[in-house]
Amino acid sequence: MLHISKHLIVYVSMIVTENTKTFEEKIQFALDNSKPYIPTKPEDWNKYWMRRAYMAETRSKDPSTRVGAVFVKDNHDLLTGYNGFPRGVVDSPERLNNRDIKYNLITHAERAGVDKAAKRGISTDQCVVYTQGIPCSGCANSLIGAGIVKVYYHLPYQKILQTSLGEKNNWRNSIQYSIQMFIESKVELISIDDFLDVQTVIGGRIYTL
Ligand SMILES: [Zn+2]
Repeated sequence: MLHISKHLIVYVSMIVTENTKTFEEKIQFALDNSKPYIPTKPEDWNKYWMRRAYMAETRSKDPSTRVGAVFVKDNHDLLTGYNGFPRGVVDSPERLNNRDIKYNLITHAERAGVDKAAKRGISTDQCVVYTQGIPCSGCANSLIGAGIVKVYYHLPYQKILQTSLGEKNNWRNSIQYSIQMFIESKVELISIDDFLDVQTVIGGRIYTL
């Protein structure tokens, strides 16, 4: 017991020393780099919610691509989702780094949001969803079925995704089916075109969009 505690104390003090140094450097950097604030208008709600989708993706363990989704009703956030394995399913690096296994076990951010709502007994009827890219046909299915009325996506993300996927036709086909299903079920698909200076991970690369 004492043996473990000793190790723990050494370990904790090492972390504190390491972090204190980094923290002070960061404070100094913040002090040195402050600028006068010129009051600006509060951020547009749609951009705000899209930023939240990018925030949600930071919870993802996917080593290749991270996606987030935010479900909003009457301009209040109901819940967020991100791509990952369902609750309790072991998301070990071995599984996450094996594409075949990963694609069989992973839930996309949009469907994860719908699933979370079902678990918590929250109605998603008439909700608006914000997610980085145009949902795949599987997620579009879930969103339509769950009563979503609007889907906002981020155009810079969509462009990067399409460029990085190149001619992977199965993905492009999937998106085309999504667009067609959204039209038929009268779900509005709306792009946010402005860059938001946020980071995302697509195909193993970090992009600032
Ligand atoms: Zn999907």
